[in-house]
Amino acid sequence: MIEIDGAAGEGGGQILRTALALSVATGSPFTIHRIRANRRRPGLMRQHLTAVLAAAAVGRAEAQGAALGSTRLTFRPRGIEPGRHHFDVGSAGSATLVLQAVLPPLLTAEAGSNLLLEGGTHNPFAPPFDFLDQTFLPRIREMGPQITAALHRPGFFPAGGGRFAVTITPVRALDPVDLIHRGTVRRCFARASVARLPRHIAEREIDVIRSSLAISDDQLSVEEIRNSAGPGNIAILSVESDALTETFAGFGRRGVPAEAVARGLVSEAKEYLAADVPVGRRLADQLLVPMALAGGGRFRTLPPSRHTRTNARVIRRFLDVDIAIEPEGDDNGAWQVVIKRRSSRPGAPDRA
Ligand code: ATP
Repeated sequence: MIEIDGAAGEGGGQILRTALALSVATGSPFTIHRIRANRRRPGLMRQHLTAVLAAAAVGRAEAQGAALGSTRLTFRPRGIEPGRHHFDVGSAGSATLVLQAVLPPLLTAEAGSNLLLEGGTHNPFAPPFDFLDQTFLPRIREMGPQITAALHRPGFFPAGGGRFAVTITPVRALDPVDLIHRGTVRRCFARASVARLPRHIAEREIDVIRSSLAISDDQLSVEEIRNSAGPGNIAILSVESDALTETFAGFGRRGVPAEAVARGLVSEAKEYLAADVPVGRRLADQLLVPMALAGGGRFRTLPPSRHTRTNARVIRRFLDVDIAIEPEGDDNGAWQVVIKRRSSRPGAPDRA
C-alpha cells in the first residue's frame, strides 16, 4: 500500500488528484493522510470529494474515508471502467480539476469514454475551460489519444452550474513528446467575458491588454455570457506560437478593479513571452502525469512552481520514472524537465 502525506510540499488538492489518477492507471492502492493540510479549510471539499468518487467509479474502487471534511482516505482500485460517466461537483468547485483525477487512466483504457462534468468551469486557482481546450488537451492529442471537449455552459464561483463534455478515444500506450522549442510567436489574442455583470468590466480589461501588449483590435473581443447560473468575469489571454498555444487567465473578483485583473494577467503573459520557453508554469505541473505515464518526455519551462515539484514527488511514488527538473544555467530563466522510465515496475519507493 502506497502511503502519501497530503501535507508534503504544496500540501493541496493536487496531491490527492494525482494519487487518484495514478492509482487507477497502475492498479496500485494507496492511503493518504493530512489531506490538504496546507489549506485554510483542510480535508475534502466538494471538488475533491467529487474527484474521489469519480476516480472510484472509473477505477471500480473501494474508497474509505470519502466524506466531506475527511483528512484520510484509503483507495483500492479494481480495474478501469471506460464508457459514459457523469460527475457533478454540486457546487462551484472546479469541474476541470475533477477531470485531472480521471482522465489519465482513460487515455489508455480498452474502450472510449464520454464524460459529462458539472460544476465550476472558470474558477480562480484552477484551469479555466479555455486552458483545458486550447492548451492542455492538444498536448494529450500529441501523445496519441483523440480527445475533444465541448463547453455547454460556463460556471463561475459562487453559483457554479457549469457543464462540459469530454470525449476520449484511447490508445494502447501514450507516445512521449518533446516541447523544447517555442518557435515564433504568431499572435496574441484575448477575450474578456462577463456574465450578468456590466459590459464595461470586460471592456476595461481589454483596454489594459490592448495597450500593454500592443495587440490589434481584430485579436480582441468582449463577450457577454447569458446562459450561466450566476455572475462572473474572466479575461483570457492566449499566446499562439509554432509549438503550442499558452493560455493565461485573470479572474474578476468583487473589490478588485478590472484594470488590476488585466494587469496581473498581462504580467504573467509577459514573463512567459520574455523567457522564450514553450511551456508555462501551469501547463508544466499538468504535463507531468501524462508524460510519466508515457514513460518519457521533455519540456522547457519557467522556474518550477511548488505544484510542479510536489507533483513530481507524488508521481515517483506510483511510477518508476526519473523526473529531472533543472535550470538551463545560462541565466535565461529557462528550466528543463526530463522524464525517463527507469523500469516497468510500478510503486517504486520515494526518492524525492
Ligand atoms: P486546494 O483547494 O487544495 O488549493 P485545489 O484542489 O483547488 O487545491 P491545487 O492543488 O492548488 O488545487 O491545484 C491547482 C491546479 O490548477 C494545478 O494543476 C494548477 O496548475 C492549475 N491551475 C491553477 N490556476 C490555473 C490557471 N490560471 N490556468 C491553468 N491551470 C491552472
